[in-house]
Amino acid sequence: MRIILLGLPGAGKGTQARTITKKLNIPHISTGDILRQASEDRTPLGLKAKEYMDKGHLVPDDLMIDLIKERIKREDCKKGFLLDGFPRTMPQAEALEKISNIDKVIKLRIENEVAIERLSGRRTCKRCGAIYHIIYLPPKREGICDRCGEELIIREDDKREAILKRLEVYKEETRPLIEYYREKELLTIIDGGRSEEEVTRDLLASVR
Ligand code: AMP
Repeated sequence: MRIILLGLPGAGKGTQARTITKKLNIPHISTGDILRQASEDRTPLGLKAKEYMDKGHLVPDDLMIDLIKERIKREDCKKGFLLDGFPRTMPQAEALEKISNIDKVIKLRIENEVAIERLSGRRTCKRCGAIYHIIYLPPKREGICDRCGEELIIREDDKREAILKRLEVYKEETRPLIEYYREKELLTIIDGGRSEEEVTRDLLASVR
């Protein structure tokens, strides 16, 4: 099964993607995670991408399309994959169509206000990527990851100005993809404003 997960930043794509890819035994391809890792490793791509990411801007399409082309042709993607954070623009969607057939596009729907509340309280483990929220999902010890004991950080792009920019960019660049996939009859919309377990249940039901 080849799946695309769409939705506003903060819709829960990363959290849900981790759970359902484990259950479906397919790779979770998060372009945001790949870019953050590249930026931490200080590769040429990572250094270039960081400038855009920190401000909440999109990384240029040609870089993203090359990255995904390379990732999707690897052996582990033969059995399917889940894309989290790609495509984000029409040129990316059109490029993807040339390199792979997608079976299902799922949009996690949340309101703008919910996105702002979730992103501004989000804390991320800088080692293992685990995600917390200061109110809804606090770690056992403040500022420390339950899973690996590393320090939790506020992602640069989870700061207020970058959050607002990301929501605006979503509206301009990514929202048109909803219509694009609806017309192709690939789209399912799931209410992402509920509990993590409820959303997971509906997601799994929609891909089985
Ligand atoms: P995410 O973790 O998916 O919210 O992505 C974090 C940041 O990485 C985004 O705000 C963009 O700067 C960049 N990024 C991730 N995926 C893409 C993409 N498909 N196209 C352009 N930029 C991306």
